[in-house]
Amino acid sequence: MKKIAVYPGSFDPITYGHLDIISRGLKIFDEVVVAVAANSQKNPLFSIDERVGLIRDVFKDEQRVVVDTFSGLLIDYVSSRQAHVIIRGLRAISDFEYEFQIAQMNSTIGQGVETLFMMTSLQYGYLSSSIVKEVCLLNGNIDRFVPPEVKAALRVKLGTK
Ligand code: ADP
Repeated sequence: MKKIAVYPGSFDPITYGHLDIISRGLKIFDEVVVAVAANSQKNPLFSIDERVGLIRDVFKDEQRVVVDTFSGLLIDYVSSRQAHVIIRGLRAISDFEYEFQIAQMNSTIGQGVETLFMMTSLQYGYLSSSIVKEVCLLNGNIDRFVPPEVKAALRVKLGTK
């Protein structure tokens, strides 16, 4: 049976930190479903279609990465994809408390669904979509943080050079 994991998030936009988690996930699972949350509380810069489009562009040569959107309860979505594992990335300690709470809730209400935490790689420990947007807005160089297609989209969206 195919081993499928769901990697949910806002991905506003996708960064090298996310890419790192996905490529490491592909070493463990046959397929990683990158699930872009439609009902995020955050006020996104990119529309859901734009976020999905960027992730699809980045992974156009990787058949084992499936990009989708979801709304409603994550565990319902996970079951609908015949998956049993949720992947989340952990950066600073500040991620921990929130992630712990969500993982416990999902394990209580989602029968048999496991959350797998992958620790960030050293070079991406402080990388987030928000900080990239901020640096780009201020005309900083974001080459080390996002793939070229994401950088181009950010520049257009933020009207920077
Ligand atoms: P969310 O709004 O669900 O936190 P994000 O797009 O910010 O969505 O993050 C999606 C997932 O990717 C989360 O598990 C987050 O911890 C993880 N993540 C984001 N950036 C990094 C990074 N630099 N290194 C490791 N994991 C990361």
